[in-house]
Amino acid sequence: MEVRTYLKISVGVALATIALKTGAWWVTASVSLLSDAMESLVNLAGAMFALVMVTIAARPPDEDHPYGHHKAEYFSSGFEGVLIFAAAVGIIWAAVSRLLHPQPLEALGLGLLLSVLSSTLNGALAWSMLRKGRAARSMALQADARHLFTDVWTSAGVLVGLGAVHLTGWLWLDPVVAIGVALNIMREGGSLVSGSADALMDRAIEPDARAEIDKVLAGFGHQTIRFDHVVTRRAGQRRFVDLHMHMPSSWTLGRAAAVRGSVEQALMSAVPGLRATIQLLPLDVEAHFNDVEDPI
Ligand SMILES: [Zn+2]
Repeated sequence: MEVRTYLKISVGVALATIALKTGAWWVTASVSLLSDAMESLVNLAGAMFALVMVTIAARPPDEDHPYGHHKAEYFSSGFEGVLIFAAAVGIIWAAVSRLLHPQPLEALGLGLLLSVLSSTLNGALAWSMLRKGRAARSMALQADARHLFTDVWTSAGVLVGLGAVHLTGWLWLDPVVAIGVALNIMREGGSLVSGSADALMDRAIEPDARAEIDKVLAGFGHQTIRFDHVVTRRAGQRRFVDLHMHMPSSWTLGRAAAVRGSVEQALMSAVPGLRATIQLLPLDVEAHFNDVEDPI
């Protein structure tokens, strides 16, 4: 299945879990179940936003964005992080007011059953999305899956808390659990935001992909040609490498271009989705692009 298909399914699952969890809150009047339901609302917004962003990321390069739109995915995970954070603040607000004005819980059994149902749904989806997200190197899908997992843990914590309320009759446990849930949601949101901010800053490609590149270059490099100044970066699912290919100055341009072409082909088949930019230089000439300073 495509990344987009997973995201469409996750929109549907988010709608279903919102219905189930809102039902659970409705029958029990538990603020911790409300916090659980609110997190699912964020899921829905996040999944829809991710869908839009992945669609933008898949657009071919155009005049304004000649390198493509792959970084759009980072906005999706960053935005989701901000939403999660906001939901957590809302939950804490509701929980504190419940602490001040305790209220009895009702129909706990039914509420818990609905919550377990929605968690099972979320857990199954999250697991398959995380696998796909890793395979497709999609930040948007991985962020969505990780958030769904938080959701499952949240619900598990809420279940335990409500079970304890049922056994002890301590009503204050319900808002306290809700606050605990909210703090965890906040942490998750914060790491999503910082993760996508970090990714926006042209991170080097994964070490195993870099090793593949070095292996290919070692296969071509012999006494006559030399590779250096190899730099890499990633943008969403796209990988980029820039490098120098130094060769004897007596080579014709045609010969040089033929070798360059086969190096490029080999690199692209070693690392899927790689775009290589290879600068041709004589063996005894160096381009000093590393020395360029930012204009102030
Ligand atoms: Zn060089």
